[in-house]
Amino acid sequence: MIPARKSRKIHIKHLAIGGDAPIAVQSMAATQTRDIAATVRQVKILEDAGADLVRIAVDSAADVEALAQVRAQTKALLSVDLQENYRLAAKVAPLVDKIRYNPGHLHHHEKHLPIPEKVAFLVGVAREHGCALRIGINAGSIAPEYDARFPGDHVSAIVACAVDHCRIVDELGFREYVVSIKDSDPRLVIDANIRFAEQRPDVPLHLGVTEAGMPPEGVIKTRIAFEQLLSRGIGDTLRVSLTVPFDDKGLEIRVGRELIADIEAGRFRSVPPNFFDGLNIIACPSCSRVENVRFIELAAQVKEMTAYAKAHELTIAIMGCRVNGPGETDDADLGLWCGPNFVNLKRGEHELGAFSYDDILGALKRELDTLIAARA
Ligand code: SF4
Repeated sequence: MIPARKSRKIHIKHLAIGGDAPIAVQSMAATQTRDIAATVRQVKILEDAGADLVRIAVDSAADVEALAQVRAQTKALLSVDLQENYRLAAKVAPLVDKIRYNPGHLHHHEKHLPIPEKVAFLVGVAREHGCALRIGINAGSIAPEYDARFPGDHVSAIVACAVDHCRIVDELGFREYVVSIKDSDPRLVIDANIRFAEQRPDVPLHLGVTEAGMPPEGVIKTRIAFEQLLSRGIGDTLRVSLTVPFDDKGLEIRVGRELIADIEAGRFRSVPPNFFDGLNIIACPSCSRVENVRFIELAAQVKEMTAYAKAHELTIAIMGCRVNGPGETDDADLGLWCGPNFVNLKRGEHELGAFSYDDILGALKRELDTLIAARA
């Protein structure tokens, strides 16, 4: 049930992606990169679960140092996730096999430089060190110029951004790259990836539903997207993003393989027409930026505490850090993002304050009740 894919084959060292290569399954370390022991352990958990590639985020020179230590302790294929500081690529490329950059983050540093110049820098670094690239686009961090060009139309914005970045990389004569276009809503992921694949069927695609949240809903949202895309021959590698304890992260790999096997065998699961109705909980899977591991427990507590409101058309977003948390919760009715000792809460774009980990559930419930009453 997975037709022949039209994408070209690229290589991340010995791992082929695209064309007739098997669909690769990858994941990401949820630990703080500078916690070397925890990150090595996380890589091992993912490797033992069968990950083809493991991504690790770096934000700082300290993270680069830590990544060097991690590299020395694993033979796993590693991808680095560059956050805002794209210049770190030069330091980290010798340690990894693939570099992911987010076009929506390139404007943060060296604002005077044109974007194509920054992409040329990244391509030069990748070429010099034999790394593949991922142009990783996320609807939660759309590059400002595309937001301005397509106001309110996220899908058109992220597809145009992906196509433009492919053109920049093509013009530099670099072909070892993949593209990902992600969102927390599987319907948007389906739409955007189909539209991109129509324009660039040759470019290998990395699939994922970001911030899918906790199982089982996170698995179901991911399945909805993957069934529709893989069955159209779209998708060459994938990541299942789940909010689970760090020791259980192998689940992301097992679920990814299970979804591929089911789709290959024609075992499709339908969802009822009202699947997207009612309370929607979005939660990030955690990464090196997570500021307190209580975030994972908190996400589960939010799901449990809000069960009484499941019939209401509301979205609650829970994010693991203060860097991406504020932006990634913008579209939610109620948003939480975690700091080391407190959790921020907002209603829509209005910030309500910071609460301790012990008090946040009560504050969230009060806001939720107020919202429900106002809508009634
Ligand atoms: S919200 Fe923060 S902690 Fe969560 S995945 Fe994104 S960057 Fe990582």
